[in-house]
Amino acid sequence: HAKAKGRGTYCVFTQEMDAHLRGRVELETDLRLALDGDQFHLVYQPIFDLADNRLRGFEALLRWQHPERGLVNPATFIPLAEETRLIVEIGAWVLERACADLADLPGAPRLAVNLSPVQLAVGDLVGMVSDVLARTGFDPHRLELEITETALFDNNARNLDALRRLKELGVGIVLDDFGTGYSSLSHLRLFPLDKIKIDRSFVREMVERPDSAAIVDTIADLAGRLGMTTTAEGIETAEQQDVARRAGCTHGQGFFLGRPQLLDQARTLAAADGGAARGSTAQDGQAG
Ligand code: C2E
Ligand code: MG
Ligand code: MG
Ligand code: MG
Repeated sequence: HAKAKGRGTYCVFTQEMDAHLRGRVELETDLRLALDGDQFHLVYQPIFDLADNRLRGFEALLRWQHPERGLVNPATFIPLAEETRLIVEIGAWVLERACADLADLPGAPRLAVNLSPVQLAVGDLVGMVSDVLARTGFDPHRLELEITETALFDNNARNLDALRRLKELGVGIVLDDFGTGYSSLSHLRLFPLDKIKIDRSFVREMVERPDSAAIVDTIADLAGRLGMTTTAEGIETAEQQDVARRAGCTHGQGFFLGRPQLLDQARTLAAADGGAARGSTAQDGQAG
């Protein structure tokens, strides 16, 4: 049976791989054109203080409006942009756009921008960041750069030096997606981190599994002792918000609290934030 099927299966497989490969090459070519063609835009997801439900800041998230494919997810194109190193240019665009967008927002909320490990590994990241800050007049103390733990621990010495220089500029460093990589608590003190973001897989588990909640509790506690804050990512329900707060997370982010949204909506939210209770209803807005 397997033998009879073998050849045909192989053909189908290569055709699929072919199509996949062609799709990739096309996407790669398109990615090069996207930056010049104005096809990128940013959405901003609010981050709240879990203690008083007040708006704390926004995370900038990249969107690609492809002329034929429609909205392409960052999970699809960021890896490609990294392989081709286009992420260096794209990342610089993201930072400049976001700083310019949020510079004059009411209440001066903080701004979190994601960094690719490639941006740390090649080029002059620190020079780029300080140039953007100078050009946009954005207060460095309002800026946080998010980096995943895998990226951080990959190229230890070089990364450590870059992070130290970024901190000298006044920029905050956030460890993103904590709990998904080869997290080691002892690693936390090796890097000059200001905040840990607990990955949403943990946040989801916390409600059903007391052991997950206990782990998050421990991480939040340790982070606090080391002078760091903790954001719970991907809060989708009131219960998750509650558990995250009780575990000692200081901040929360997720669809339940607020969707990634266009600048105008983010501006309205920033203007409206007067400390009113939040979290009983999800914010409407541009879907992430
Ligand atoms: P991330 O930095 O961990 O960003 C959070 C992701 O979780 C975002 O996905 C956001 O839309 C999504 N999210 C937020 N709240 C919820 C929730 O309650 N439930 C669920 N299911 N998801 C939620 P997005 O925008 O698709 O971005 C995915 C990843 O792509 C980001 O993960 C980040 O690693 C990367 N990325 C996005 N923008 C940039 C960028 O400008 N530069 C770089 N280098 N990477 C970026
Ligand atoms: Mg992030
Ligand atoms: Mg994250
Ligand atoms: Mg994530």
